[in-house]
Amino acid sequence: MKVVSVKTGRPYDILIERHILDRAGEYIRPLTKAIRAVIVSDSNVAPLYADRVAKSLQNSGFATSLFVFRAGERSKRLAAVEQMYLHFLKHDLTRTDIVVALGGGVTGDMAGFAAATYLRGIDFVQIPTSLLAQVDSSVGGKTAVDLPAGKNLVGAFWQPIRVLIDPAVLKTLPDKFFRDGLGEVIKYGCIRSKALFERLERENAADWIDEVIYECVSIKRDVVEQDERDMGERAILNFGHTFGHALEKLHNYSGLTHGEAVAAGAAIITRISERNGITAQGTAKRLEQLLQKYGLPIDAEFPLTDILPAVRGDKKSTGRQVRFIFLKEIGDCLIQAIPVEEFRTFFGEHHF
Ligand code: MG
Repeated sequence: MKVVSVKTGRPYDILIERHILDRAGEYIRPLTKAIRAVIVSDSNVAPLYADRVAKSLQNSGFATSLFVFRAGERSKRLAAVEQMYLHFLKHDLTRTDIVVALGGGVTGDMAGFAAATYLRGIDFVQIPTSLLAQVDSSVGGKTAVDLPAGKNLVGAFWQPIRVLIDPAVLKTLPDKFFRDGLGEVIKYGCIRSKALFERLERENAADWIDEVIYECVSIKRDVVEQDERDMGERAILNFGHTFGHALEKLHNYSGLTHGEAVAAGAAIITRISERNGITAQGTAKRLEQLLQKYGLPIDAEFPLTDILPAVRGDKKSTGRQVRFIFLKEIGDCLIQAIPVEEFRTFFGEHHF
């Protein structure tokens, strides 16, 4: 087993082990006096794994119940969280009981938010089952739901008491979801680890996925420990995301996965920053080749003319600026704010 200890305000361990789903109970029991555990999962993941996790929890003395919601980002709304609260009440969940989030990013975000707010906050455990959730969203304590106006607009920082990662579950993932996670994996190499980037170039990530997860989680841990509340350095985790989010929005959050959007966003911004002399020559080409190796897009289906208004936001008031993460080179990045007034010169006059 590999362990990554996260020293946030409330410290916790991330355990990475194959088939840890079947040992969830024994790894959670020492941390809590809970009598009840509610497993929160979606309609795709629950049929695959909820029984195994429930059995393991029951063997460690937890009375379990299962809350299942319809899979997909569309469920990540306050209405679904309210249904969760009602389930918690119906099953007499008290302040000393726990929530177990079993699933991908949406499940972790939503169950985490419910745990952060139910009875002013109860303990929760993350058991991420997608590569994206394993390397990214299950670590760092961000929980949220979407509003009609945008993603993750309501939420809380709420650290889990433990994260259990089972790389064996990735075998059952369709390729599309594996690629989705690889978009974030490549991001970690770009911003913090040339060694990871180069190993992804040399070898196939699927062949050493346990180590890939460990490397990514360790990088995220380092960044989150420095800036738990996302006031500064944590922004580097958003490399590729400013354009990525704009692309997801233009695609109406369907068709393009988050990882694909981040991949395209990373490639686009790196071509631009290289042209502006911020990024070492040849970096964009190398990034494009790695993204393509893993079946990820390197460009958008929309011209910059359409993307930039989404990047800039609607308000065109002077003095506004947009914070970008640029690579200096592979494995090293910087945060730089570009004033909206300078967009024309930075991105190229002909896009406006
Ligand atoms: Mg992301």
